[in-house]
Amino acid sequence: MFCRTFALAVVFCFVQAAHATEPPALTLFENVRVFDGKTEALSASTNVLVRGNTIEKISKDPIAIDGNSSAKVIAGGGRTLMPGLIDAHWHTMLVRPTPTALLVDDVGYLNLMAGAEATDTLMRGFTTVRDMGGPSFGLKRAIDEGIVAGPRIYPSGAIITVTGGHGDFRHPNELPRVLGAPLSRQELMGASMIADSPNEIRVRVREQLMQGASQIKLTAGGGVASPHSPLDVSTFTEAELRAAVEAAENWGTYVTVHAYTPVSIQRAIAAGVKCIEHGHLMDEPTAKLIAERGIWLSTQAFPDEMADAFPEGSQERAKAFEVFAGTDKTMALAKKYKLKTAFGTDILFSQRLAQRQGELLVKFTRWYTPGETLAMATGTNGELLAMSGERNPYPGKLGVIEQGALADLLLVDGDPIADIKLIEDPAKNLVVIMKDGKIYKNIL
Ligand SMILES: [Zn+2]
Repeated sequence: MFCRTFALAVVFCFVQAAHATEPPALTLFENVRVFDGKTEALSASTNVLVRGNTIEKISKDPIAIDGNSSAKVIAGGGRTLMPGLIDAHWHTMLVRPTPTALLVDDVGYLNLMAGAEATDTLMRGFTTVRDMGGPSFGLKRAIDEGIVAGPRIYPSGAIITVTGGHGDFRHPNELPRVLGAPLSRQELMGASMIADSPNEIRVRVREQLMQGASQIKLTAGGGVASPHSPLDVSTFTEAELRAAVEAAENWGTYVTVHAYTPVSIQRAIAAGVKCIEHGHLMDEPTAKLIAERGIWLSTQAFPDEMADAFPEGSQERAKAFEVFAGTDKTMALAKKYKLKTAFGTDILFSQRLAQRQGELLVKFTRWYTPGETLAMATGTNGELLAMSGERNPYPGKLGVIEQGALADLLLVDGDPIADIKLIEDPAKNLVVIMKDGKIYKNIL
């Protein structure tokens, strides 16, 4: 064991030394108008220099890179440079398979499918996703190591739920659960874990943290896609939620919960949860509470087609439409109480819908201006990511164009504030896609 550790250390040192001799890559974007992720207007013509994975300089004056023959110069021609998009509610592992495939298909196959989807996600301009549940640790590692092209992933690991809660996909014939008995398929693959006491919850939370979770996701109330989970139900007790919050906070990070109803949201906040996913069935007192406590609302504008994943006449389909009907009210409350609102899509079980990820962002312009919408999917979502504190897998600023921020950048052929629909057709309108200083697409 010692020898192996020593050998690894030698290899590591060697790799480091090899890297040290290579100067970091330089990319200069000339003559671009900048949307910085915060200000709802474009700058005048600007030049932006990226060194390595960082934005080094932003200047109205020309930036000299003489003597550096390896520097790449991109003539922006007055196009818009903006931060890479961030989806705050994504499931890297659950986009393409059907619910049945997830439970029965080979795990290697599911991972390869998720890898292909991750590449497509990046090519839609989404350079970061906050993964809200699923076995994404291996995919994240493969992307970070450059094996697969994909977005940065902020993984939650397995969704933690209760018996019969949202995320419990077991069949009734798998009951009763015997404590200590073999785990169900969904648990073995790390998609979701069932925990029915504070002690069990602590174990499951710590297991996700040990594997590299940047935040912890629990389902505090009923959900649409789960077979045994009515929407009105509150799942965890306050003590159970608090056990998760304590375990996460001991690791310097936070808990976010899936919750639609006032009761499930309020109980989660009482237990110390810092972010609410969805919130589509909230009421005014709950919105006030979210505002007073400075809690994040991570919400979505679900398209009706999302219900197509569920059979006609099914309970899941009916639940989907009940949730969709709450969107207008929730967005109005979010605006009225100036809630810290993050944008996400939560696309599940549909590659076809995933291809419309940008369109689901544009849908937010039903409630927000195009500038507000773009700022939400960049600068604001970047603030939410920073909540992972010491567990942030990508320290550095994301979602903004400013000196010192990480270089995740999109060059848009046009002005996305004047015409946000440009985001709906990334193949045509995103002419350069850069993540971590590396160019993944350049059709100029
Ligand atoms: Zn979700």
